[in-house]
Order: sequence, then structure tokens, then C-alpha cells
Amino acid sequence: MVRAIVGANWGDEGKGKVTDVLAETSDVVVRFQGGANAGHTIINEYGKFALHLLPSGVFHQNVVNVIGPGVALNIDALLAELEALTGRGVPAPQIRISDRCQVMMPYHIDFDRFEEERLGKQSFGSTKSGIAPFYSDKFAKTGIQVCQLYDEALLRQRLAIALVKKNCLLEHLYHKPPVDIDALVAKLQAQAEKIRPMVCDTSRLLHEADKAGKVILLEGQLGTLRDPDHGIYPYTTSSSPLAGYGIVGAGIPPRSLTDIVCVTKAYSSAVGAGPFVCRLDGPEGDELRRRGGDAGEFGATTGRARDVGWFDAVATRYGMEIQGATQAVLTNLDVLGYLPEIPVCVAYETADGERITDFPATPVLMGCKPVYEKLPGWLCDIRGIRNYAELPENCRHYVDFIEAQIGTRISLVSNGPKREEILER
Ligand code: GDP
Repeated sequence: MVRAIVGANWGDEGKGKVTDVLAETSDVVVRFQGGANAGHTIINEYGKFALHLLPSGVFHQNVVNVIGPGVALNIDALLAELEALTGRGVPAPQIRISDRCQVMMPYHIDFDRFEEERLGKQSFGSTKSGIAPFYSDKFAKTGIQVCQLYDEALLRQRLAIALVKKNCLLEHLYHKPPVDIDALVAKLQAQAEKIRPMVCDTSRLLHEADKAGKVILLEGQLGTLRDPDHGIYPYTTSSSPLAGYGIVGAGIPPRSLTDIVCVTKAYSSAVGAGPFVCRLDGPEGDELRRRGGDAGEFGATTGRARDVGWFDAVATRYGMEIQGATQAVLTNLDVLGYLPEIPVCVAYETADGERITDFPATPVLMGCKPVYEKLPGWLCDIRGIRNYAELPENCRHYVDFIEAQIGTRISLVSNGPKREEILER
């Protein structure tokens, strides 16, 4: 059985925690897209961790963790993350890396930074981890696959083709020194040796696990609204965070994916540039940001302060639909316990004064304002509650209201950042 765990919104919905919880009863956890550009926060018996590239199954000894071919593999970042884990007492996890996975080059990271500098105020809010240059090269067919690292002649030939253009841009557009091919080959070969024991044909591994009836989790990074096709283009990422892409980026037959768990927060948070209709400025926003997540709403990878706002039912319903959610998980519900009244955005008003409930394309979105409906708060701390039925009535009413708005069954509610703080509904 294959199950995807994906985000409905702008990322940071709490997918890492949900994956860590569901990994307990799974056999394989797969990362299928993205790279070390975002983080999943996980708090369990080993402590608090921010995972970037490693699948969130790494805390479970029985789980095989797969880096699928769709991932942007930053080898140094992966090794550093593994070391940080084992250095803090987590037993060495089982990791498999696809031999078809492409490798993040040092020049991808440089180009990302140089391009953001060049764009200045018009930048797209990149995390500067090389993601856009990496995927551009992949689709321009000048990327390097892991399997190509083990054949020096081939590697040099591939790099020579790529570097002609890179060095031309470095010299003439960015006014920076060119890349030296010999030094790069030596670095890549050293990296390749370090990961050699983990490299294999992961598609074969997944097909066999699927045939044997194992439980496979596909773990998405970011959320629907960062998808290059369906998100807030160009304020998107460069690979698809959709469950539909999960089967491609992992290498699994589409028919095997039967459960799409779509995670959303009880309020909104977004990091990076682009329109964010529910953004709360001023003291109201500051308070929600300070109270949000496990230690305030700050990026797990970048430390950037996230923008926050009330729950956006327009964006989330769209997010659920595009993902094809079969069930939803509502996280961070405990955060709202301080509010006597909780606004929920149920529609947008466009710049022309039209009221809409379908999430629009970016040019219209830019001019939209939120239309709120207010719900009564519950004014108490719900952390520590272990049964859904014991939640205050207004709190359950809030969950019912959101469920009706997003058109997806909410099966789990998270009432704290820790592994055990999750309620079945
Ligand atoms: P991901 O990228 O989707 O895994 O999300 P992040 O880890 O970037 O952000 C989610 C934040 O919410 C982290 O700070 C988590 O520790 C925190 N978190 C997850 N679930 C809950 C919850 O139910 N309550 C609270 N207070 N924090 C939570």
C-alpha cells in the first residue's frame, strides 16, 4: 500500500511530524522531490531535529529510507545530516539513494545566490540552496546523475558540456571566477565514495516492496501552493510537491497510490516572497507568530520569520483538491487556545470587488483581500488531551467548520509538536 503525506498550503504544515508518527507502522519512507531547501521539524524521544534531505522515517530502525530519483541530492548536506543524527544518539538509519538521482553541484548553489543578487527586490524568495539552477539543468539535460559519478571519463565529458555555459555566465553576467573542472571532479569522486554503500536501483526496491504488500510512505516537501504548475507562479519551488508527482519522483506505479494524506495547519503560515492573502501585520500577527509551531514560526532550514494569518479555507480547499486528498490532518490546533474569537477566511474579494471562493491565478490573487467569518474560541490549553472527544466543544466545532470548508475528512488532529500529541477523530 502506498500512502503520500503532502502539504495543502505553502509548506511548514507539520508533514515531518505526521510522517514520523505514521512511519511507526510503515516499512519504507521515500523523499521524491526537492532538496535541502526546506526543513521538517521532528520532536521525539531522541530530541528535536530539523530534517532537510533525510526522509522522516530515519528514527525508526525497521524503516528503509529512500532518496528517490526526483530529489535534488546535496551529498555534503546529506552526510552532515546523518552525522548530526548519529552524533545525538539516534541509531544509524537504513538509507538508500537512487542511482538515477541527480547531484546538486556547488555551482548550482552559487548560481542561485548570484541570481537572487542580480534580481534584487524582484527576487522570488529563494532559499539559495541551488534548487532552481539544479532543476533547470536537469530538464536542460546538463545535470549529473549519481550513477555517472562512478565513471570518470563520462563525468568529465558531462561536466565539460555543462561548464562551457556556466563559465560564460560566471565571467560575463555575474563577474565571478570560472569553475575548475579538475577540482570539481576530485570533490565529486570523494563524495561518491562516501555514499557508495547506499546507492542502488531504488525503483526496483520499491516495486518489490509494493508487490510484497509493504507499507510505503511518500513524503512531500513544501505544499500545493508551491507547485510550479498549480501554485502561485513564479513564487513556487522548482519541483512538484504534489502526491501525483510522488509516484514519478519515487518510481512507483500510479495504481498503487491509494491514500493521500494532506496536512494543513489550524492557521496559515508562509515563508518567502509572493502574495499571501491572509497575512496579518502588526501585533496580532506578531503574537500568532510567537505562539505558533513548537518555538514560534521561524523556518526550520533558513531561520526566516514566517508570515502568519488566520486559516485560509479558499487556499486550503484548492490545496486539498489539487493533491487529491483522501484524508486531512489538522496540525497546530493547540496554538489557537488564547483567542476568544477565531477568524477563518471563507472567501476572497478581488480588486474588482467580486467575491470568489475558487483560488485564482497569481495576477488576480495579487489584488485579493480576505473575507472572514468569526468562530468562538475555546480559551484553554488543549495540549495533554489524549482523546478527541475530550476537546472543548468550541474546539471540535472549529474542526467541523474547517472540515466542511475544505471538503475533506479530517482524520487526525495534532495538539502539540511532540510525537504522542495526536488525536484520532
Ligand atoms: P513541515 O515542513 O511540513 O514538516 O513543517 P515544519 O516542521 O517546517 O513546521 C511545522 C512546525 O509546527 C514545527 O515547528 C513543528 O514542531 C510544529 N508542529 C507540528 N505540529 C504541531 C502541533 O500540533 N502543535 C504545535 N504547537 N506545533 C506543531
